[in-house]
Amino acid sequence: MRYYSTRNKAEGVSFAQAALTGLAPDGGLFVPQVIPPYPGPVRSSLGTMDFKDIAFETIKPYVQGEIPDPVLEDLIHTAYPFAAPVVPVGDRLVLELFHGPTAAFKDFGARFMARAFAYLRRGEEKPLHILVATSGDTGGAVAAGFYGIPGIAVTVLYPQGRVSPLQERQIAGLGGNIRALAVEGSFDDCQCLVKTAFSDQGLQKRLALSSANSINISRLIPQSIYYAAAAGKTFAGKTDLPGDGSPWDAPDAAVPRTLSLKPGQPITWCVPSGNFGNLTAGLYAMKMGAPIRGFIAATNINKTIPDYLTSGHYQPRASQATISNAMDVGAPSNFERMTAHWSLEELRSSIQGVYVTDEATRKSIREVHHTHGYFLDPHTAVAWQALDEIRSSSLPVSDPVGLLSTAHPAKFAEIVEPLTGPVPVPPALTQVMERKPLAQIIPADITVLLEVL
Ligand SMILES: *Cc1c(COP(=O)(O)O)cnc(C)c1O
Repeated sequence: MRYYSTRNKAEGVSFAQAALTGLAPDGGLFVPQVIPPYPGPVRSSLGTMDFKDIAFETIKPYVQGEIPDPVLEDLIHTAYPFAAPVVPVGDRLVLELFHGPTAAFKDFGARFMARAFAYLRRGEEKPLHILVATSGDTGGAVAAGFYGIPGIAVTVLYPQGRVSPLQERQIAGLGGNIRALAVEGSFDDCQCLVKTAFSDQGLQKRLALSSANSINISRLIPQSIYYAAAAGKTFAGKTDLPGDGSPWDAPDAAVPRTLSLKPGQPITWCVPSGNFGNLTAGLYAMKMGAPIRGFIAATNINKTIPDYLTSGHYQPRASQATISNAMDVGAPSNFERMTAHWSLEELRSSIQGVYVTDEATRKSIREVHHTHGYFLDPHTAVAWQALDEIRSSSLPVSDPVGLLSTAHPAKFAEIVEPLTGPVPVPPALTQVMERKPLAQIIPADITVLLEVL
């Protein structure tokens, strides 16, 4: 497979080059030359295949000729020792993506990427330096994914005071090959610093640099896996039982936890979105042939994409702080990727945009807990609320709908607990809270960043 910059369709690069450089030299994002359809037999058995087999079939065409099949199998095996259950909650399905080590969906991308980098860099002498900006969860997932991987050093920039105490410990509590920089500014400032550092010729000469944001194609592709697996399952009329660590109150409560699904109906996924890497991966899965009807792009008041879908004008802006802070993105970087693949009309035919205020987000957290005994984290609650709003206006009630739960509610206990009471904490998070965060504080100034690097 060849990969092209969103800004230059003339020169293609390999998967290894696209993954290891992150951003294209012209400032564009790498996109695959085609989105490869699943072979017929794979497509028709998505509902019965094992998650790891779906992962293999999903990633294989994107890395063919560069990562041999047995290596890919092994990467997937070590990257995904956890599940992504589709759990009925009330009248809808929740795709729980928080059963990995950092309790957020970014584990899916980061863990594959870290292992792919280690393989693609085998035998290199110069260490690879990964520079990443995070609004919260990326940093933790990337830090955990790369921690202790030889030959790779990671620097994470995050907006000081705008990530949760737990996120801060996930990013800044590891040490070793992971360096944390707390930037006096917003996530957009962090992202801007990273972009500027990447275009600095001097730095490029000095360090072998790579990114690990959702702009990195090797992080985006593996995120298609859970869409395909979950859509295949619901298309077959099946759902999962809640797994270990599913955030239910009183696990034996008399609330019904089943939903009867008519087989053969493609699902609509509501995706809580910030940089739109997750939703773009969903579009890839749909294009590959997963039985998905379409998407709802749910944002907080940082509603650049919902506005674009309505007006047809893309207007990036400064981000505003909300309680769903991993989605505080005013200039979503994957917009460029989405529009490189699809026209405005095509995007409109598969995505509806909705934005949700903090007040409505809080209301959802409280009501869903009260009614179903299920805890939502603030990001997932944005999607729940968006689905409520859209469903009452423009989706047939009989169609299966689901939302992606992108983080475990215990990660945002300081927001959730005042609305619901105590949230059960999964063991992975108890361990993290015992760490001490050790970040260096820097101003949002490129000369300071370059000095530090
Ligand atoms: C990163 C993140 C999002 C947004 O995902 P994008 O791919 O940037 O749109 C949503 N929820 C949580 C918990 C996140 O960490």
